[in-house]
Amino acid sequence: MSSENRPHPDTASVSSGHDPTRHLGSLKPPIYETSTFTFETAEQGKRFFELAYGFDRPGEGEEPGYIYSRLDSPNMRPAEARLAVWEEAEDSAIFNSGMAAIATVLLSFLTPGDLVVYSLPAYGGTVTLMSGLLADVGVVTRSFRADAGLDDLEALVGGDRLAMVYLETPANPTNDLFDIELAARLAERHQARLVVDNTFLSPVWQKPLLHGADLSLHSATKYLGGHSDLTAGAVCGGTEDIAALKHKRYQIGTTPSPATGWLLARSLETLRLRVERQTENATRLAGFLDSHEKVETVSHLSLLQPGDPRHDVYKRQCLGPGAMISFELVGGEAESFRFLDSMRVVRLATSLGGTESLASHPWTMSPPTVPDQEKRSIGVTPGLIRLSVGIEDVRDLTADLEQALAAI
Ligand SMILES: *Cc1c(COP(=O)(O)O)cnc(C)c1O
Repeated sequence: MSSENRPHPDTASVSSGHDPTRHLGSLKPPIYETSTFTFETAEQGKRFFELAYGFDRPGEGEEPGYIYSRLDSPNMRPAEARLAVWEEAEDSAIFNSGMAAIATVLLSFLTPGDLVVYSLPAYGGTVTLMSGLLADVGVVTRSFRADAGLDDLEALVGGDRLAMVYLETPANPTNDLFDIELAARLAERHQARLVVDNTFLSPVWQKPLLHGADLSLHSATKYLGGHSDLTAGAVCGGTEDIAALKHKRYQIGTTPSPATGWLLARSLETLRLRVERQTENATRLAGFLDSHEKVETVSHLSLLQPGDPRHDVYKRQCLGPGAMISFELVGGEAESFRFLDSMRVVRLATSLGGTESLASHPWTMSPPTVPDQEKRSIGVTPGLIRLSVGIEDVRDLTADLEQALAAI
């Protein structure tokens, strides 16, 4: 879908979705902190409702007007336009959190009796939705691991009505890679939707729609927001699916606030700069950790070697290794805690993708719904540290890890 008349994301992300001539010449989008919009005439109000609720399509040059900020607001459009360019999508919709985006996707496209197959490991909140909310509304869910082939996936589906294949790749917290093209073949055979959580790599390094996904979604709280100062979600895909999601969004109120939309549009201007620098830093730190005697294993996509089947998926599907590292210390929870408590530059916090480096302990710092045995089976052990690498000077980060490793 990348065509010559589409601007490059680096160009579009600094200006698209905002026309200064329609905002008193304001170079940057102003924040519209208002819950509602006045109509010039009753006739205009009627027309805006017709368009918003899909009773009619806009005529030539006609733009749908604003009605009420739960439906749509001027601060959502710049971020949505920029994201669509990044993901090479027809359209996109933003939400008030990543979970709101995921929940709106599930509620929009599933009905009781449907089957969803989803990848594990995955973000804890996602697993909770899959095994909790969906079961409550009569949707059957089954999980699979990264080594599942097409035959394994067919066996998992059995004779059931597969409506959605849901991937998170690379997966939280271990960087497990799932093959989007393989999942697309399964989805296509069953006329199911393929949804990919693209949070970990961001569209800078992975564009799932180009590999057969129908929807690419994000916790925009992470790399897209990039400054740990907002919570938001985003979904990119085809015009019809996104229209359905926007409809559901205003029905259930998973709409972001004007301030959130504004911050997100601002953040998207520097997406590549931040993610490239974070990735450069992470690649250096992964190499450092990999050769350290107190570190048992390191998972960062830059360390995948030719001959490893994951390397083949990486080459086909990813444009860069991203900035999430997970590594296992020699030892268990006590050693992990000593390491985490000794860090001075890297902050001890959950979340990821911000300008600052953060470390967390997935064994103890994730929703308590997953039993220990299951955690171990997906690679989450008491010695595992998850590191989200920021934009700081890499020498300071290396020195910090070095002294914290010395302290365990
Ligand atoms: C954080 C995260 C989510 C949930 O997003 P929120 O913005 O916290 O609601 C979903 N998927 C992944 C991979 C995440 O890291």
